[in-house]
Amino acid sequence: MAVSNIDASKLTTTLTQTPKALFDKNKMSFGKNFTDHMLCIKYTEDNGWETPEIKPYGPLQIDPAAFVLNYSVETFEGMKAFRAEDGTINLFRPEKNMQRLATSSQRIMLPEFDQEQFLQCIKELVKVDQRFVPDEYGYSLYVRPNFIGTEPNLNLTYSREAMLYVYLSPVGPYFPRTVKLYANSKLVRAWPGGVGNFKLGGNYAPALKPAMDVVAKGYDQILWLLGDDHYVTEVGTMNFFIFWINDDGEKELVTAPLDGIILPGVTRDSLLSLARQWGEFKVSERKITMPEVVRAIEDGRMLEAFGAGTACVVCSVSEVCYEDNEYTIPVDPSNPDAVFGPLTSRLRNELLDIQYAKTPSSWAVPV
Ligand code: PMP
Repeated sequence: MAVSNIDASKLTTTLTQTPKALFDKNKMSFGKNFTDHMLCIKYTEDNGWETPEIKPYGPLQIDPAAFVLNYSVETFEGMKAFRAEDGTINLFRPEKNMQRLATSSQRIMLPEFDQEQFLQCIKELVKVDQRFVPDEYGYSLYVRPNFIGTEPNLNLTYSREAMLYVYLSPVGPYFPRTVKLYANSKLVRAWPGGVGNFKLGGNYAPALKPAMDVVAKGYDQILWLLGDDHYVTEVGTMNFFIFWINDDGEKELVTAPLDGIILPGVTRDSLLSLARQWGEFKVSERKITMPEVVRAIEDGRMLEAFGAGTACVVCSVSEVCYEDNEYTIPVDPSNPDAVFGPLTSRLRNELLDIQYAKTPSSWAVPV
């Protein structure tokens, strides 16, 4: 494949003639409002990467026979830009998203791209639409890079044409409440040798019906299990964490290991790092099974459980249904109205303080 050559210094910008009004913060549901502009960078195998363009947000023109439309040659990312108290804007660990996009795109034979140059173009896009970056704690600008195979070709070879494009969506707090999970042992999200560790659009379409089915049953999210031992993998589109007293009587924060099944979440990595820096309890990346979780709940050893991802940061789990039994998971025993458990809340606050640049950190990258 051709070597990448995105050149951010050549970026062209065409501004919209019809700027949108800013969105009402109270009606800002996740991912439904988009800003004025988008970034597009086209690729052909013969000529490599073309000049990056920022242009008014609008429909793409794609050949009906494009790879992406037939064979789901698509990968995407999700990251956020935050406005600090002094008005400056930071992206949170965007280089991790660039790396993950590169890894995912290799898996579906999309071309290499220069991660630093692409990130530079994304920063320019955020600057162009900076008035849409909310200034309230808990609010942010969601950045969605997509990478698609655009060659019109029905042969299952690989796409010799591609496009990277990025658009922006101002967002508010995602799950300002605890969530109820339904553990499904029959349908799996990812499997050994599969592609669960890549952020491919093709992983998400088959997860829609199982997720909507649990919503119809009155739950919020699906807890994905795998195999005969009911290995606990992820929750909805989040990594899953448990804080418990383990079988050895130790306090332990545990999440599934990056074994090819699990999406390597940026939030997951950040929370593990924070908890390890504190050094107050054991922090593990290891396999846990649903029977172990049930035993811990029944023994009163389950302290907290939460999902972690860019969209919500963290959300506490208050209940899980497994094999027709409902289990209550403590959130905060000292406060029946708590939305976050004590550890979940502490992790959340530390992360938010970094994201909003209240705590200086190399994880906050200025645009
Ligand atoms: N797992 C899945 C399946 C996801 O889609 C996401 C969201 N990207 C995550 C975990 C969390 O990853 P991150 O913290 O990078 O958002």
